[in-house]
Amino acid sequence: MSETIPWWLAEASPEPLPRRPLDRAPDVEVIGGGVTGCACALALAEGGLRVRLYEARSIAGGASGRNGGFALGGGAMRYDVARETFGRDAARAYWRLTEAYLDRLELLAGDALTRPGSLRLAADEEELEQLRLEHAALREDGFAAEWRDPEALAPGLRRAFLGGIFHPHDGSLQPARFVLDLATRAVEAGVEVREQTRVESLDDLEAERVVIATDGSGRALLPELDEVIWPARGQVVATEPLPQRLFSYPHYARNGFDYWQQVPDRRVVLGGFRDFSILSELTDVEETTPVIQEALDAFLLELLGEMPAVEYRWAGIFGLTQDMLPLVGRIPGRDGTWVAAGYSGHGNVLGLMCGELVAGAILGRPDPILELFDPARLIGATPAASRA
Ligand SMILES: Cc1cc2nc3c(=O)[nH]c(=O)nc-3n(C[C@H](O)[C@H](O)[C@H](O)COP(=O)(O)OP(=O)(O)OC[C@H]3O[C@@H](n4cnc5c(N)ncnc54)[C@H](O)[C@@H]3O)c2cc1C
Repeated sequence: MSETIPWWLAEASPEPLPRRPLDRAPDVEVIGGGVTGCACALALAEGGLRVRLYEARSIAGGASGRNGGFALGGGAMRYDVARETFGRDAARAYWRLTEAYLDRLELLAGDALTRPGSLRLAADEEELEQLRLEHAALREDGFAAEWRDPEALAPGLRRAFLGGIFHPHDGSLQPARFVLDLATRAVEAGVEVREQTRVESLDDLEAERVVIATDGSGRALLPELDEVIWPARGQVVATEPLPQRLFSYPHYARNGFDYWQQVPDRRVVLGGFRDFSILSELTDVEETTPVIQEALDAFLLELLGEMPAVEYRWAGIFGLTQDMLPLVGRIPGRDGTWVAAGYSGHGNVLGLMCGELVAGAILGRPDPILELFDPARLIGATPAASRA
């Protein structure tokens, strides 16, 4: 398998981080150098713990450097569905926390984040009806969400979409740049970062506490996690810079299956169409495929009216969960082993949030939202080896 290079990592041109070995054994070891692992490691070090982080590739080499660059408030499901499924108070608390984390992301990300809002589009009548329900529920609970009729859409979009919701607080992120910066801060705070170092087994680690922050790419570390976090592949393209700016904010449609935005140098970054081959995209093999790439090209042509040169094509792996909530907390039956993963394709904001939440819990400051994300809801408590 040849590694695909995402536009974000090409633009960020990362250097290996300095390795500053700890002078004593670590208190906590973190597996995974994406947004979750870096945010967690930084928060733990700032909380006074000795931390070592392992990354099998380079920092942001996984989904955190390969995604669509959307920074969205909310969870991976529609808000009205979240209310029905988890109860209104829990859904509202969840959404509010993600909005607070969008603000926190803005504080941390500097010019890697802009906040032009995002547009969630309906591709057919059924989706339009669903978005109307979501819009009403959001407004009822005090969240900013603006309805867009088809006449309000850009002319190129009116042919394909029937309207949608504009989310004014959302953002566009250069995810690789943001995560590389987080990792640099973590090193400055004393974290030992070991890049190009794959953890083969938790038994090889020495700390009493371990955090698994591998989202969809950590298979074989723990069998019970393999059962509940399903790897899914997303494929993305980035065009040459276009002569004009056509899209001022991120757009997404068809239940989030398709997403695109125009980045500051005016290239279009477009991802999606996973549902064109849904079963074969349930994989952790990080490679592009003709069927999805052709669908992306066809959509580009439809969207832009002519075919631009495509300069980058890449794949990435993210973690899906059955209820589309992340898993954050202790792994039942394994006292010293923690997880923060399973964002179901929404990890830019949730990864920062859950990385800090799991660190807070380890530092003895558990946030009440962790009840909703408790891994025990999906992983049965079976007797297993304890770490501490
Ligand atoms: C194509 C695509 C598009 C997406 N679009 C968006 C989007 O627009 N907005 C959004 O919010 N989310 C999006 N997501 C989801 C988001 O990218 C992820 O949820 C998020 O980046 C997860 O971050 P993470 O740090 O938890 O995991 P990752 O960034 O995947 O990091 C995990 C790291 O763990 C490392 N690792 C795995 N196993 C081991 C081991 N045994 N030892 C050491 N290291 C190991 C991997 O190399 C990897 O770098 C998208 C994902 C993909 C793939």
